[in-house]
Amino acid sequence: MGSTGKTEDVKDIDLVEKEFKMRIAVIGAGASGLVAIKYCIQDGHDCEAFEQTESLGGTWNYTDDVGLDKNGLPIHTSMYKHLRTNLPKELMLFDDFQYPEGLKESFISQNEVLQYLNNYADKMNLRKYIRFLTQVTYVQPIDDNKWDIEIQDVISKEKIRKIFDAVICCNGKYSVPYMPHIPGLDSFSGNCIHSHNYRSEEPYRDKTVLVIGAGPSGVDICSHLSRVAKKVLLSMKSSPFFKASYGIVEKVPLKEIIGKKGVFEDQSIELIDDIIMCTGYVYNYPFLSEKCQITVDDNYVRGLYKEIVCVEYPTLIVMGIPGRICPFPTFGLQMRFVMKMLKGEYHLPSREKMIKEIQKEREDKNCANRHFHNKGVEGELMYWIDLAESANVEGIPKVFSKLHAHVIQHKRDVKKGYRILNEEEFQEYDI
Ligand code: NAP
Repeated sequence: MGSTGKTEDVKDIDLVEKEFKMRIAVIGAGASGLVAIKYCIQDGHDCEAFEQTESLGGTWNYTDDVGLDKNGLPIHTSMYKHLRTNLPKELMLFDDFQYPEGLKESFISQNEVLQYLNNYADKMNLRKYIRFLTQVTYVQPIDDNKWDIEIQDVISKEKIRKIFDAVICCNGKYSVPYMPHIPGLDSFSGNCIHSHNYRSEEPYRDKTVLVIGAGPSGVDICSHLSRVAKKVLLSMKSSPFFKASYGIVEKVPLKEIIGKKGVFEDQSIELIDDIIMCTGYVYNYPFLSEKCQITVDDNYVRGLYKEIVCVEYPTLIVMGIPGRICPFPTFGLQMRFVMKMLKGEYHLPSREKMIKEIQKEREDKNCANRHFHNKGVEGELMYWIDLAESANVEGIPKVFSKLHAHVIQHKRDVKKGYRILNEEEFQEYDI
């Protein structure tokens, strides 16, 4: 693939000029988009990133607003007030940039992560590559290994098209809610929202609130609600995140809603004022042409080799698919893999072999489609090793996996802080 890349109109490369250059489009300037831009520029490519909002940082930008933004686009962020990271900041960083030394806590606020991303963009001089308030509306492969991309100015609504050699999708995966069908929910007379639109516990003061789903959002939101609500019910299947706690009543999955009554699978009944669906999000790539053959089936993304490279058109990359991982370090590793591949220093197997490998992986992992991309600590480590070894690029130090396992096992304790000592060891301390 490397040999096919050529670039007219190369400008603004501030690192070493290299012989081989591509024009690369990055879609989205959240955490993965920033890492993508940085690696493209570092490798001497010509990179242009398109961000539909006016700021970088993606989901880490908090707003009180829900629904549509002032430009008529669906609000992207799912942040709520007082969110603290569920991973320590020692696992929430890129390999070449640290948090400020004065930041003692490990489980930091949304604003501190956003600040980190802004500082990273400034330090790496990335802002000049980002075209803000620009939405990518269509991406299609055309002849000669190129991509035709339609972009729209979200203010003027003017559309233009541009040609690129490669496209990296970094459009996030926590902005389109998954809403399970619950019989009778349509007739529920209380207020029912998805966690995407949850901002604070205040509207739930003195109410009985049913939270459905015990992923990180459900568990976190329950603990916030328990400070003000009359009663908090958490309806769940099983949950590695939930720690039984005073003020939260555990419930089995909901069977149906009748008026203001919730009927649960164990036949118990509760009177409910409001419902918050913390049922997760769906992967969504509405701008990709059908030709790419990337489809989402019960939240399993088909058509990607190693959950990142488009099988049909390998110059299309989709970042950030694996879940239940340490996302920030993973983005760096994914980009090291991608850069090697684009340079032609790592060769993909044939299309047929990639398809077989994908099928085998899907069959070997005995789970529902929607859980396939959830890695967990063991799966994450295997993924990291596989990417690093396949492309012979720098991996992620073992200590990351060890600290991740520790945090999952002991659940988040905001009074604990962590220090990475070396590639193998970390230290825990009381704050
Ligand atoms: P999630 O991880 O996908 O969890 C959704 C949960 O809802 C799953 O356990 C799912 O179970 C369950 N569910 C779905 N339908 C249900 C039903 N009808 N009844 C009962 N349970 C149902 O989504 P999330 O919790 O929104 O988290 C998304 C991401 O945001 C995560 O990566 C997380 O780390 C991040 N996040 C971070 C923080 C933080 O840093 N503090 C806070 C919130 C979220 P099944 O899959 O079995 O259906």
